[in-house]
Parts: sequence; structure tokens; C-alpha cells
Amino acid sequence: MPVSKSFFKQHIRDIFTRKWDETWKSWQQCSHTKSFLSSVTYQNSKFTSTLSRTTLKNVVGIITGHCQLNKHMTNLKIIADSTCRFCGEAEETGIHIVNDCPGTYRERHEAFELCPNKPAITKITKFVQCKRIKRALLQGNNT
Ligand SMILES: [Zn+2]
Repeated sequence: MPVSKSFFKQHIRDIFTRKWDETWKSWQQCSHTKSFLSSVTYQNSKFTSTLSRTTLKNVVGIITGHCQLNKHMTNLKIIADSTCRFCGEAEETGIHIVNDCPGTYRERHEAFELCPNKPAITKITKFVQCKRIKRALLQGNNT
């Protein structure tokens, strides 16, 4: 019985995704990104390819920490204070505003707790699409 073309495509995709995941997990760098994405999945790649350019930029910015958030702007010596604009209690990093900032509770609740069965990348996308978060990512501290 012949094997279908789609079977081979899926098999090749699985091999390359597995190799990419092994490489990702072997890297010692990218701890900020790894806190959000501990493994590589084809579904994440496929999902992010459907996002608008601006939304993708914001998702990548939050995940990597390389965006208009105060910690990164301080690292670049563009501003002097890395304190979180939403709570004033910690450094403003992607990890902080997504995971434990009391000032972004409402957005986190909408994105994460109202959609418990969605993949992490979907929740992060919903989070960055919230009005206050989007504004902070697009305009930095000039909000
Ligand atoms: Zn905060």
C-alpha cells in the first residue's frame, strides 16, 4: 500500500521540529525567552505565522524582553529608571508584566485565566493585544 505525500511531509516536519527543539534546549542563552517557550513546537510556528506584523513584533518583544519595556530601555541607556510603570514595585520586564505584576492583573486575567486550555503563545498574544499593554509596547514610557 502506497504511503501518502502528507504522511512524508508530517514525518519530515516532525524530524526537523525535534532537532530544532533539541538545539533550543541545549542552548544556555535566552533564559528570558525560555521562561515563556520551554520547547519548540510546529503549532507555535504555524500560529505566529498568522499574526499581523505589529502583533508578532509585540509577542516577540514580550517573549525576548527586547521591546519598549523599561528594563530593556535602561539596558540600552535610553532611560534611567527600569521600574515598572504599571505597579512601581519591580523592574519592568516581559516576565514581570506577564507573570506577576499586580498592575497588569486585569490583562493577565483576561488572557490567561479566561482561556485556560489555550497554548501559551495564544495567551501571550491575547495579553499583548490588551489596550494598555499594546500602548506600552508601541510607545514605551511616553504613554
Ligand atoms: Zn509591575
